[in-house]
Amino acid sequence: MSQDCIFCKIVRKEVPADILFEDNDMLIFNDINPQAPTHLLVIPKEHISTFSELDDAVLMGKIFTKVNEVSKAQKLKNYRVVINNGKDAGQEVFHLHVHIIAGREMSWPPG
Ligand code: AMP
Ligand code: ZN
Repeated sequence: MSQDCIFCKIVRKEVPADILFEDNDMLIFNDINPQAPTHLLVIPKEHISTFSELDDAVLMGKIFTKVNEVSKAQKLKNYRVVINNGKDAGQEVFHLHVHIIAGREMSWPPG
Protein backbone atom coordinates (compact mmCIF):
# COMPACT_ATOMS: atom_id res chain seq x y z
CA MET A 1 0.00 0.00 0.00
CA SER A 2 1.17 3.46 -0.82
CA GLN A 3 -0.33 6.31 1.18
CA ASP A 4 -0.37 8.89 -1.60
CA CYS A 5 -1.17 6.65 -4.55
CA ILE A 6 -4.54 7.50 -6.12
CA PHE A 7 -5.23 3.91 -7.13
CA CYS A 8 -4.34 2.61 -3.65
CA LYS A 9 -6.86 5.15 -2.36
CA ILE A 10 -9.46 3.66 -4.71
CA VAL A 11 -8.54 0.18 -3.42
CA ARG A 12 -9.03 1.44 0.16
CA LYS A 13 -12.31 3.15 -0.88
CA GLU A 14 -10.95 6.51 0.22
CA VAL A 15 -11.55 7.86 -3.29
CA PRO A 16 -14.74 6.92 -5.16
CA ALA A 17 -14.60 5.04 -8.43
CA ASP A 18 -17.10 3.41 -10.73
CA ILE A 19 -16.12 -0.17 -9.84
CA LEU A 20 -17.26 -2.99 -12.13
CA PHE A 21 -15.43 -5.89 -10.52
CA GLU A 22 -13.49 -6.63 -7.38
CA ASP A 23 -11.90 -9.71 -5.87
CA ASN A 24 -9.01 -10.34 -3.48
CA ASP A 25 -6.39 -9.61 -6.11
CA MET A 26 -7.69 -6.85 -8.34
CA LEU A 27 -10.17 -4.13 -9.13
CA ILE A 28 -11.76 -3.02 -12.40
CA PHE A 29 -13.23 0.47 -12.73
CA ASN A 30 -14.12 3.00 -15.39
CA ASP A 31 -11.41 5.47 -16.35
CA ILE A 32 -12.30 8.95 -15.10
CA ASN A 33 -11.21 10.48 -18.42
CA PRO A 34 -12.31 7.91 -21.01
CA GLN A 35 -10.53 7.88 -24.36
CA ALA A 36 -13.29 5.82 -25.99
CA PRO A 37 -16.90 4.78 -25.21
CA THR A 38 -15.47 1.90 -23.17
CA HIS A 39 -12.36 2.61 -21.14
CA LEU A 40 -11.71 0.30 -18.22
CA LEU A 41 -8.76 0.03 -15.91
CA VAL A 42 -7.72 -3.28 -14.40
CA ILE A 43 -5.40 -2.90 -11.40
CA PRO A 44 -3.85 -5.24 -8.88
CA LYS A 45 -4.79 -4.34 -5.30
CA GLU A 46 -1.15 -4.62 -4.38
CA HIS A 47 0.83 -1.46 -5.06
CA ILE A 48 3.12 -2.39 -7.95
CA SER A 49 4.43 0.79 -9.59
CA THR A 50 5.08 -0.40 -13.12
CA PHE A 51 4.58 -3.42 -15.35
CA SER A 52 8.32 -4.01 -15.32
CA GLU A 53 8.09 -4.53 -11.56
CA LEU A 54 5.42 -7.20 -11.90
CA ASP A 55 7.33 -10.41 -11.23
CA ASP A 56 4.45 -12.53 -9.93
CA ALA A 57 3.48 -14.87 -12.78
CA VAL A 58 0.35 -16.02 -10.95
CA LEU A 59 -0.92 -12.46 -10.49
CA MET A 60 0.02 -11.63 -14.08
CA GLY A 61 -2.02 -14.63 -15.23
CA LYS A 62 -4.99 -13.61 -13.10
CA ILE A 63 -4.93 -10.06 -14.44
CA PHE A 64 -4.84 -11.07 -18.10
CA THR A 65 -7.41 -13.82 -17.60
CA LYS A 66 -9.70 -11.18 -16.12
CA VAL A 67 -8.97 -8.77 -18.97
CA ASN A 68 -10.20 -11.48 -21.32
CA GLU A 69 -13.24 -12.30 -19.16
CA VAL A 70 -14.41 -8.73 -18.68
CA SER A 71 -13.97 -7.98 -22.39
CA LYS A 72 -16.16 -10.97 -23.21
CA ALA A 73 -18.70 -10.03 -20.53
CA GLN A 74 -18.93 -6.54 -22.03
CA LYS A 75 -19.28 -8.13 -25.49
CA LEU A 76 -16.26 -6.26 -26.78
CA LYS A 77 -15.02 -7.64 -30.07
CA ASN A 78 -12.52 -5.02 -31.08
CA TYR A 79 -10.57 -3.60 -28.24
CA ARG A 80 -7.13 -2.47 -27.27
CA VAL A 81 -5.24 -3.66 -24.19
CA VAL A 82 -2.62 -1.11 -23.18
CA ILE A 83 -0.01 -0.85 -20.45
CA ASN A 84 2.05 2.31 -20.39
CA ASN A 85 5.32 1.41 -18.73
CA GLY A 86 7.21 4.51 -17.63
CA LYS A 87 6.79 8.24 -18.09
CA ASP A 88 7.95 8.50 -21.70
CA ALA A 89 5.55 5.69 -22.61
CA GLY A 90 2.70 7.80 -21.25
CA GLN A 91 2.39 6.42 -17.72
CA GLU A 92 0.95 9.04 -15.38
CA VAL A 93 -0.27 6.92 -12.49
CA PHE A 94 2.50 4.82 -11.01
CA HIS A 95 0.33 1.95 -9.84
CA LEU A 96 0.22 -0.77 -12.47
CA HIS A 97 -2.95 -0.67 -14.57
CA VAL A 98 -4.13 -2.30 -17.75
CA HIS A 99 -6.30 -0.13 -20.00
CA ILE A 100 -9.10 -1.81 -21.96
CA ILE A 101 -10.24 0.62 -24.64
CA ALA A 102 -13.07 -0.03 -27.09
CA GLY A 103 -16.04 1.40 -28.94
CA ARG A 104 -14.41 3.48 -31.62
CA GLU A 105 -11.95 3.04 -34.44
CA MET A 106 -8.38 3.47 -33.31
CA SER A 107 -5.31 4.39 -35.28
CA TRP A 108 -1.92 2.75 -35.25
CA PRO A 109 0.88 3.45 -34.48
CA PRO A 110 0.26 5.42 -31.26
CA GLY A 111 1.48 9.00 -31.16
P1 AMP B 1 -1.60 6.13 -17.57
O1 AMP B 1 -1.36 7.38 -18.37
O2 AMP B 1 -1.36 4.87 -18.34
O3 AMP B 1 -0.85 6.17 -16.25
O4 AMP B 1 -3.13 6.11 -17.24
C1 AMP B 1 -3.67 6.64 -16.08
C2 AMP B 1 -5.17 6.64 -16.26
O5 AMP B 1 -5.78 6.76 -15.00
C3 AMP B 1 -5.68 7.80 -17.13
O6 AMP B 1 -6.40 7.26 -18.23
C4 AMP B 1 -6.56 8.59 -16.17
O7 AMP B 1 -7.68 9.13 -16.81
C5 AMP B 1 -6.93 7.54 -15.14
N1 AMP B 1 -7.27 8.05 -13.83
C6 AMP B 1 -6.55 8.91 -13.07
N2 AMP B 1 -7.17 9.14 -11.90
C7 AMP B 1 -8.28 8.38 -11.90
C8 AMP B 1 -9.35 8.17 -10.97
N3 AMP B 1 -9.39 8.80 -9.79
N4 AMP B 1 -10.34 7.32 -11.31
C9 AMP B 1 -10.33 6.69 -12.50
N5 AMP B 1 -9.35 6.83 -13.42
C10 AMP B 1 -8.36 7.67 -13.13
ZN1 ZN C 1 -0.88 2.25 -5.47
